[in-house]
Amino acid sequence: MSEQLIFLNGEYVTKENAKVSVYDHGFLYGDGVFEGIRSYNDNVFRLDEHLVRLYDSAKSILLEIPYTKEEMTEIVLQTLRKNNLSNAYIRLVVSRGIGNLGLDPFSCKVPNVIVIAESLSLFPKELYDSGIEIVTVASRRNRSDVLSPKVKSLNYLNNILVKIEAGLAGVPEALMLNDQGYVAEGSADNIFIIRNKKILTPPGYVGALEGITRNAIIEMAKEKGYSMEEAVFTRHDVYVADEVFLTGTAAEVIAVVKVDGRSIGTGVPGVITNELLEAFRNLVVKDGIKVHNSELNAG
Ligand code: PMP
Repeated sequence: MSEQLIFLNGEYVTKENAKVSVYDHGFLYGDGVFEGIRSYNDNVFRLDEHLVRLYDSAKSILLEIPYTKEEMTEIVLQTLRKNNLSNAYIRLVVSRGIGNLGLDPFSCKVPNVIVIAESLSLFPKELYDSGIEIVTVASRRNRSDVLSPKVKSLNYLNNILVKIEAGLAGVPEALMLNDQGYVAEGSADNIFIIRNKKILTPPGYVGALEGITRNAIIEMAKEKGYSMEEAVFTRHDVYVADEVFLTGTAAEVIAVVKVDGRSIGTGVPGVITNELLEAFRNLVVKDGIKVHNSELNAG
């Protein structure tokens, strides 16, 4: 197999040579933005939506990305082509760049732009069939009026604390509440609960990232005629749900069969979860941008 190539500021370099300065404020302060994107059978799922979120996040933190969205689209596609990947997880990072040791982002003149593509399954394959167990953790979601969850920044400590608690509890993912105790999301995925065929997911203002996988599931649930609402709910609602599942680019769609020791529904992935999972698997191969788009491929 040929060596993995990473896009770094206009060049494709080997993993060994993909290096940025220790003075990059992305490293010093988590100052930057990122996206996690997936391609399925040469189709980059909803790349446009990911780029809108990336550029919105960058605008929000006053970070100017030195490429247009069209150029960035081509960079992502080219990274996949260079690595001969048709099914991949793509990490796009734009950091503030090299500055001085102080916080001041105005000392950073040139952002670093990085695109890494590789194969990734977040959870072991068998868990996608069996479903996973999660626990609620003590770490609370950052308040959405303080640091908007819409900004997908490199500052992921809030989420890392959740992942630490999940690891200590011996489960693959955890449930995070917001400062008021309402259900927000997982460490890097959104939550859906289903009761009596009614599907609920927390709204963004509760402290959930408005995930692209989440949006796709909302659309498909509505198309299938289910009652689908964004609503505020508590852990109790999760415990007594018939079905629970998580969504995310890395996580994809995964059933949750136990929460805080309570079996969900019958203790196995539910019928609607499986229906939506299958619909999602059919959607991801067609709704997006083709890696081998002849027009973009020219030259
Ligand atoms: N919440 C958080 C905190 C995340 O990091 C992610 C992953 N991007 C998600 C939810 C799921 O979002 P998406 O479906 O866009 O990947």
